[in-house]
Amino acid sequence: MSHFDVIVAGGSISGLVAAREAARAGITVAVLEEDAEIGTPEHCGGLVSMEGMKNLGIVPDASAVENSRIKRARILSPSNGFELSAEKQKVVVLDRRALDKQVALQAQRAGADIRVKCSVRSFSQEGKRFVVKTSEGDLTSDYFIDARGVASIIGRNRDGVLSSAQYEVFAPWIERDAIEVAFDSEKYPGFFAWMIPTGDGRGKVGVAGKGINAANTLKSYMDKKGPHSIVRKVYAPIWVMGPIDNFVSGRTVVVGDAAGQTKPTTAGGIYTCGMGGLLAGRAIAKAIAEKGDDDDDGLLGKYQKDWSSMFGEEFSKMLTARRLLERLDNKALDELFSAIPQDKLEEVSSTGDFDFHATALAKILDVKSASRMAKALLGNEIRRLVDG
Ligand SMILES: Cc1cc2nc3c(=O)[nH]c(=O)nc-3n(C[C@H](O)[C@H](O)[C@H](O)COP(=O)(O)OP(=O)(O)OC[C@H]3O[C@@H](n4cnc5c(N)ncnc54)[C@H](O)[C@@H]3O)c2cc1C
Repeated sequence: MSHFDVIVAGGSISGLVAAREAARAGITVAVLEEDAEIGTPEHCGGLVSMEGMKNLGIVPDASAVENSRIKRARILSPSNGFELSAEKQKVVVLDRRALDKQVALQAQRAGADIRVKCSVRSFSQEGKRFVVKTSEGDLTSDYFIDARGVASIIGRNRDGVLSSAQYEVFAPWIERDAIEVAFDSEKYPGFFAWMIPTGDGRGKVGVAGKGINAANTLKSYMDKKGPHSIVRKVYAPIWVMGPIDNFVSGRTVVVGDAAGQTKPTTAGGIYTCGMGGLLAGRAIAKAIAEKGDDDDDGLLGKYQKDWSSMFGEEFSKMLTARRLLERLDNKALDELFSAIPQDKLEEVSSTGDFDFHATALAKILDVKSASRMAKALLGNEIRRLVDG
């Protein structure tokens, strides 16, 4: 039976970055991916900031960049809307099929053994070793990283899961430089519809919401927009309840979507999940180097502390924003949108950080009329968001 220092279940962004970091420290790592190809099937809009990618140690290859010309974000309520400039935020649209392969190459070059079509069926600890049962036979390891995505978290709590559909679409109404986000509490309860352009006349168009029929909802969103052809369909669950309580239990370490490291507002997770992988991979490497100080309060626990100090406050603001969104009906959404003055939008456009957008949202809501209305609706919750 082959033995590794670390086995990673799941070969997507968080698992691959974790494997890369651990392998770079000279320890033996296997990444087990149940699908037949890394990055496929893609279930991601691919919208991410270049700053986030830099922090993950990835300069996306030209083949992974689908669109680097995003300049505007149109944010719509049922009868209102505003536009933010997105130029300062330097966001790009990436092709996850290419990006994940690029990170797999980084991990492989560092020494990781990546295996596709290898599904992890179970893992159990026997003494200090994990026995990992896979579709391709049993393996053992000293540490186990769970990077299996939403599938892993879903068993624990279905309440935080929304249904989503995202299609690749060719349509004349998609403009290369403009993202669109459309709120409607009846059509997309607790979430929104989105359009992420990959070029002129092409893009990724999606919807998510609590208890919706995602396929029907997306169809009516696109029918309303105008003529289009769908060239690819993806349905995937989205987790929006924030981080799980414990990223680490003994020598089992959970990263990425599996740990709830996806933004509760937008379900964006390339950066925050990738960072989970990066910190976890480094923590395990350190625990191995320092031989055994590896419990949840020790070196491995530092992974959770570091991730929380980077994102904890922002995620808790996002959770408040999510509760706000869940309570607003369409009339309230329209009123809120109309209360936001142009100078606030300009301020947020020039200073907002794509990866920490709850802070920008708080700025927008910290406008007298918007704030008064939101406070009337939500009492203290909104104060927590605005006052930090
Ligand atoms: C529709 C949609 C649009 C999105 N758009 C964006 C966006 O624009 N920007 C952004 O930043 N984020 C976006 N996200 C979120 C982003 O895709 C995820 O947060 C990110 O991919 C999480 O990475 P991960 O490695 O933790 O998990 P995943 O990417 O979910 O990967 C988990 C991997 O584990 C594998 N796996 C599962 N079970 C097993 C098993 N038993 N054995 C072996 N392998 C297994 C899976 O096949 C998969 O490859 C979007 C998500 C969805 C659903």
